[in-house]
Amino acid sequence: MDKDAALSELRAKLAADTSLPLQESNLVFGEGNPQADVMFIGEAPGARENELGRPFVGRAGQLLDKLIQEVGWRREEVYITNIVKRRPPENRDPLPEEIAAYQPYLAEQIRTIDPKIIVPLGRFSMNFFLPNAKITRDQGKVFRMKGKLIVPQFHPAAALRGTETMNALRASFRKLPIIISRFDELAGNGAVSENSEHALLQDSLI
Ligand code: URA
Repeated sequence: MDKDAALSELRAKLAADTSLPLQESNLVFGEGNPQADVMFIGEAPGARENELGRPFVGRAGQLLDKLIQEVGWRREEVYITNIVKRRPPENRDPLPEEIAAYQPYLAEQIRTIDPKIIVPLGRFSMNFFLPNAKITRDQGKVFRMKGKLIVPQFHPAAALRGTETMNALRASFRKLPIIISRFDELAGNGAVSENSEHALLQDSLI
């Protein structure tokens, strides 16, 4: 089955699974290029995303689009989704049981797209992949995991609230094309154990 078909099937399965929490909200599955090298993963849809059924289309999404363009990419080239696929009420943080319930679907989405680089946006998404990481300490660092690179970044909504966070997000974002261009070297070095959360690069890239 090709990736488009596999993703359509997964979306249908997710839509039909009424055992999942947050059934009162609309499904926001994710969108973008199924062949993408880079997959951005946020936390959960907000009000605008819930309305339109698309990820990152509110203010944080506009910033994400701008950052993507600043590094010379287009939104349609990458893949964008969230850990939790339906909006929590009042934009509250997703609960651990909500994250756990949607986890198999996200795992399948990642397996299908099979990106080289996963960019978790914000601490919830980062901790999904790197349970011991701290966002202020580890954003912009590159971690190797099962042949992929994980590059956590500040959530764009946090960057909209403070200049320092905005500058840090922009600086980390600018590393992404460099990380892609060095992917084989960074992902292929067998010196680091697969399961360890190991920072390969810090601020030395740019
Ligand atoms: N914040 C997120 O984490 N995801 C979205 O899709 C929108 C805002």
